Amino acid sequence: SSIRERYDSTTGPFISLEFFPPKTHPGKQNLLARMGRMTALNPLFLTVTWGAGGTTAGKTLELATLAQRELNIPVCMHLTCTNTDRQVIDEALRAARNADIRNILALRGDPPVGEEWDQASLTSEFQHAVDLVRYIKKEYADDFCIGVAAYPEGHCEGEADGTAHSALRDLPFLKEKVDAGADFVITQLFYDVDKFLEFEELFRREVSSTLPLFPGLMPINSFLLFNRASKLSHATIPQHVLDRFPAESRGDDNEVRNIGVDILKEMVDEIYERTNGRVKGFHFYTLNLEKAVAQVVTRSQYLSRILDEEKDEELVDGIEEIA
Ligand code: FAD
Repeated sequence: SSIRERYDSTTGPFISLEFFPPKTHPGKQNLLARMGRMTALNPLFLTVTWGAGGTTAGKTLELATLAQRELNIPVCMHLTCTNTDRQVIDEALRAARNADIRNILALRGDPPVGEEWDQASLTSEFQHAVDLVRYIKKEYADDFCIGVAAYPEGHCEGEADGTAHSALRDLPFLKEKVDAGADFVITQLFYDVDKFLEFEELFRREVSSTLPLFPGLMPINSFLLFNRASKLSHATIPQHVLDRFPAESRGDDNEVRNIGVDILKEMVDEIYERTNGRVKGFHFYTLNLEKAVAQVVTRSQYLSRILDEEKDEELVDGIEEIA
């Protein structure tokens, strides 16, 4: 079913989960089993990433199809549009529709690592994510519920074209995506709650007062990866967050993860409180791992209601087992 419908008919808080397609067959089987266990966390939807330029097309479609068929939770397939033939996009959309996948995250994509992004040489009809949103609306009418990406700290390309990189700079383009028919928005990962809250206010005021806006949260599984992912995503790590990791903890992944779970559950609770529940869905970049997400849910004052309200013993057992 569509994410928008589920969102409208569900009182929060709840979570959603992102996965990427593994390279090998055993990897896929393991991941499907893990995704099955994670349904105990009652996610509103699952998303499956897409390799820019269609590099993972087959694997993304396969994982998304299996998840949609076997897990009884709506799946959202990511799809990027630049450097991609229209034929690849149509094949992906038709295959998704045939597999009953009703949700697409419409993205632009990035150039392959190491290659320059030469806008002028891009002859494709798809230059920006909005072109894909418009294309899906035009060719597929209401077959898909469409999500788009947003950047609470600004998309990194601001600086390259001489303008400051900020959420404000991207706002007209985000509004364009929403006006073109986007049904929900998922943000880039961030660790600065104040910046997200400023963005949320701006979004509510300038773009839409009602559209679902999901903050994107990435669990911290190792100090090295935490730094790397933040840099790659241009997410700042506030000093008070860095200070949570004493020097002697930084080489110990278990300790780092444990501190990271506390940081994330505080982020969730603060966002839920300070928006008075207006932000009611929290999207986790799982990195295909289950433990940290399960721990955030059990430790969060608000997300743990997923367990309390259900009063479903099987659900609680499932989560305790993972956490
Ligand atoms: P756009 O909305 O097109 O924006 C890109 C840039 O262009 C921004 O700087 C924007 O301000 C600017 N812009 C937009 N429209 C215009 C216009 N009309 N004129 C001038 N400038 C404009 N990548 C993958 O390859 N696979 C994935 O599965 C994937 N999943 C993602 C999931 C999420 C939630 C997020 C936040 C990102 C994901 N990405 C993924 C990364 C994404 O492809 C990159 O961040 C990409 O650089 C931008 O994509 P976009 O859809 O936000 O682009």
